[in-house]
Amino acid sequence: MNQNSKGLAVLGVTVVLATGGTIAGRSDCADDHVGYVAGQLAVADLMAAVPGLTGLPMEGDQVAQIDSKDMSLPVWQTLVRRLVHHLARPEVGSVVITHGTDTLEETAYLLHVLLQPNKPVVLTCAMRPVTALMADGPQNLSDAVAMARHPGASGVLVVCAGEVHTGLDVNKVHSYRLDAFDAGDAGALGAMEAGQLRLFRAFPVSAAPSLAGAQRLEKFLSTVALPRVVLLTSHADADGDMVRALLALPAERPLRGIVVAGTGNGSVNQTLEAALVEAQAGGVRVVRTTRCARGTVLPRPGHPLPEISGLSPVKARLALALELLAG
Ligand code: ASP
Repeated sequence: MNQNSKGLAVLGVTVVLATGGTIAGRSDCADDHVGYVAGQLAVADLMAAVPGLTGLPMEGDQVAQIDSKDMSLPVWQTLVRRLVHHLARPEVGSVVITHGTDTLEETAYLLHVLLQPNKPVVLTCAMRPVTALMADGPQNLSDAVAMARHPGASGVLVVCAGEVHTGLDVNKVHSYRLDAFDAGDAGALGAMEAGQLRLFRAFPVSAAPSLAGAQRLEKFLSTVALPRVVLLTSHADADGDMVRALLALPAERPLRGIVVAGTGNGSVNQTLEAALVEAQAGGVRVVRTTRCARGTVLPRPGHPLPEISGLSPVKARLALALELLAG
């Protein structure tokens, strides 16, 4: 927060970075909630659809126009570059990112790990396209801007259907309902009610700038491919064939890691586990997480495969790829 000449709090400019998604999606008929095309409306139109934003110091920046199921390293790199640029501007107080719901949790986690910003970075989205009878995008964008402009807010946050979550904890948990996200055992950070934040716990603490953090960011921005980390799931009647097929991938982009979403407390079918132990012995990083929607993996002394606690399988995959990239 800046101060003006009278010493009053000034919340600065809020920049909206648009990446596409259903929040910018259109369909030919109002009752089509699934056959629409994501990423059609430009950022200026998204902002114009929310009357309450008029008069606020706001800017829009169109970063991409994609369905977030197609999120890729180059789009992430562009988004991170634009974000770093805007966050460094002294007149900018906060950033809102409009994003598809499908991979929102991965982007939120990525930004949390790479930036841990002290200014608020709020991701928002929609489960219905703009053409729907009850489009949820405008209200979500309105709430996200109110969240971003809340005095003292910080860190990577997600606003959807009136709930506020941290980027670290958020997961998409429903394929159709408007309140598609939750934060598992951590619970919501807060709620947006009539444009006001009701905060349940403290905002994420931002990391002090460090050389290691700057180097990790630089490596992420300059790489042409993340280390290849594959996500497998343990299930009844599993076997090790997929692991052996992955080990035979061409040397240009070899397999560097496997995240296995285990059953329950990260347990793995014995045939699959034997193949994973073999892969690990051959230099592939293997970590276990759980396919359960709730809970974590508690360490089990003597288990041949290490666990990664507190992250969903998709976030664990990203965490391992970033760790391998950092070297
Ligand atoms: N497929 C869309 C996307 O992730 C879904 C959404 O935004 O709700 O871009």
